[in-house]
Amino acid sequence: MNYNIITIFPELVNMFAKTGFIKRAMEKDYIDMNIIDLRSYSNNKHNRVDDKSYGGGPGMVMLYEPIHSSIKDIKNKGSVLYLSPQGKPLTQQKLKNLSLEDNLTILCGRYEGVDQRVIDNLVDEEVSIGDYVISGGESACMVLMEGITRLIPGVVDDIESIKQDSFQAGILDHPHYTKPENIEGMAIPDVLASGNHQKIEIWRRKHALGATWLKRPELLKNVKLSKEDDKLLKEYILEHEQNEQK
Ligand code: SAM
Repeated sequence: MNYNIITIFPELVNMFAKTGFIKRAMEKDYIDMNIIDLRSYSNNKHNRVDDKSYGGGPGMVMLYEPIHSSIKDIKNKGSVLYLSPQGKPLTQQKLKNLSLEDNLTILCGRYEGVDQRVIDNLVDEEVSIGDYVISGGESACMVLMEGITRLIPGVVDDIESIKQDSFQAGILDHPHYTKPENIEGMAIPDVLASGNHQKIEIWRRKHALGATWLKRPELLKNVKLSKEDDKLLKEYILEHEQNEQK
């Protein structure tokens, strides 16, 4: 995957490119990042890429021309995505679809956002990371790239850990525990230390279903549960209610 990132803060994205699994994914050539400094396309002697909003009011708007020139210069564009709170909210399914692309161009906004004509003529899709507003598209771009990159086969060592992630199969992940086995009387569930893999799998499935029921019940409407799943979930709910009454 080749990411072209258009930003006025290339140093922010650069730092990200030099960190953790993203850095390793770059070293192993699973991904490449072409970080484009939008200011280098400014026609203005002060390198400005924004101006006042027609109609008045507070806030600046990013100019069409530098964005147009920067996109025109990109060899392998792929889809051009504009990060915007007005886009379709990002989902795990969307990340899966994007992870199949070879090239993506990601435009990071600032200020009040970009001139509407950028969205109308230069952008294929607006993508939102949620129904709230942050100051710039760079952190949203990092969310997008992290989410996509970890789905590229080979990037994450253990593919099984991806399969059980929340939302991958429509439900949430099961709880995880690590050492020590007992922390001030809070012991891990016995089954997890039993070495019985079949029982562990059943416990994990039950608690993944249970966590979904407890925290995001609406997700269960969109997944087809097997008879065994139904049974496990009923058991979970019963145990949960009994614990609540204690
Ligand atoms: N005036 C815009 C609005 O209300 O729709 C918000 C502009 S915001 C302050 C500046 C930039 O941050 C946006 O152009 C976008 O690139 C980015 N941004 C803010 N919130 C975002 C979100 N939820 N998802 C993706 N990008 C976001």
